[in-house]
Amino acid sequence: MLDEDLKKIIEERIKSNPPKIITVSCGLTSSHLGDERNLREFLLASEMVEYIKSLGQNVNFYLFNDSSDALNFAQLRVGVNKEEKLIKAFESECGKPIKLIKDPFECHLNYSDHFAADIMTRFHKLGIYPNLIDVWSLYSGKIFDEAKTKIFTNYNEIKEFLNKKFPGYHMKNVFWPLCKYCQKIDTTEIKKIIDGKVVYFCKDCKKRKTETFKGIKGKFGWKVDTAVKWSIFQPDFEPYSVAYLDPNMGSYYIAKAISEEFFNGAFPEPINIGSINFDRTLSYQLLPSLPEQVFKILFLESRKKDITISEKKIISASKKYMITSEMSYYDYVRMKLPYDVVEYESTRLDFLSNYGKMFSKRFLKQNLNPRLPDEAQLKNLLPEDKTKIIKLIEWIILQKQKHMDHTHEEFLNGINKALKRFRIKREIIFPIIRDLISMEHGIPLSRIFYFMPQSFLFQLLVIIVSGKEKTKKDQSLAQG
Ligand SMILES: [Zn+2]
Ligand SMILES: [Zn+2]
Repeated sequence: MLDEDLKKIIEERIKSNPPKIITVSCGLTSSHLGDERNLREFLLASEMVEYIKSLGQNVNFYLFNDSSDALNFAQLRVGVNKEEKLIKAFESECGKPIKLIKDPFECHLNYSDHFAADIMTRFHKLGIYPNLIDVWSLYSGKIFDEAKTKIFTNYNEIKEFLNKKFPGYHMKNVFWPLCKYCQKIDTTEIKKIIDGKVVYFCKDCKKRKTETFKGIKGKFGWKVDTAVKWSIFQPDFEPYSVAYLDPNMGSYYIAKAISEEFFNGAFPEPINIGSINFDRTLSYQLLPSLPEQVFKILFLESRKKDITISEKKIISASKKYMITSEMSYYDYVRMKLPYDVVEYESTRLDFLSNYGKMFSKRFLKQNLNPRLPDEAQLKNLLPEDKTKIIKLIEWIILQKQKHMDHTHEEFLNGINKALKRFRIKREIIFPIIRDLISMEHGIPLSRIFYFMPQSFLFQLLVIIVSGKEKTKKDQSLAQG
């Protein structure tokens, strides 16, 4: 699913760094689960990782979870499914790092871990298997200590450097201290740095505190944090949307300048991705309806383009994902799944059927309910038509039995010859069959026959051959 451009970029990187393990990384904040629109970069990163593996290379796939980030009210609302009681209970927690807030659902160690688990479950369903790195733990684990000393000893130099290099940009805080008193991280401000100590003030609880470089808790401003991570983890690739790649004040270039000026100069190659938009009515509808392959087609085809996902685009992607050489996901849902309710052919289709049922309900809005003919329909059947239909169904059953590997085209050729041989006029007999099995127009009947399971064809045959007697018997049984 990767474009040729990107494959070339990856191959060139591998060639230029032969002894290195290639690292792909991306980031998120586990403040809530959210809908599907942010999935593009993770799907892309995962596909890149798979491609690098397929070239016989070692690859790291890091997903940085910014669990030091402060919870904001909008995230809280989505996180607790707009439940008033929980919003009330957690409102006062906004502003604290999500790692320090307890789990509203009381099943994990903290707020961040709860949503990180949800996010990973979602990712695994989409075949995305990153190594999740908890950023709060990086800060606690002293891995950033050296960087902290570097930043605090160059605090003003960093600000001056950025002012000069990016005149349109102003970095609010190079470091956000965690307030020792109220645990908020978004209301603090560094007042001065003297004698190896940091003095900060918290606007929320109005308290001031002095701490050592190593003793102070908190996190770097986002762009500094990025540069520090680059210097430590040395990623080769990270997906970025255009907004981050503006050379004058895009976050990527600011982080890169910080890395080059104050750290070891490591930076990843940015992989450009466009934005994903869709209407609110599609939120949370894609994940239950689309298998991972359809997702990839939808999200990764033309990765640089901003796309607005519509029902039309979803259906078009579902036609592009081929489950077998003859059957797309769309075909499967329309023509095979309805029969699979009776007959499950394999665990793979069983697994697909859950997506398919949702897809059919949500996007096709067409209830394809294959039904066997009832008594009234059989009564109206002319004997000569009945004979022809029986012959045709018998032929189809045998044909499918003998040539299980036939393509739809081969099947179609065969059926055309059979129709001729049996002197069956398609325009007369096909509408009768459509009526018998309650199959609406829109899908060619030959295609339906091609996908129709044998068990259904057998039942159809039995009912047509012996329908009358059977229904009479049934009737007398029913009447007791
Ligand atoms: Zn939980
Ligand atoms: Zn405070």
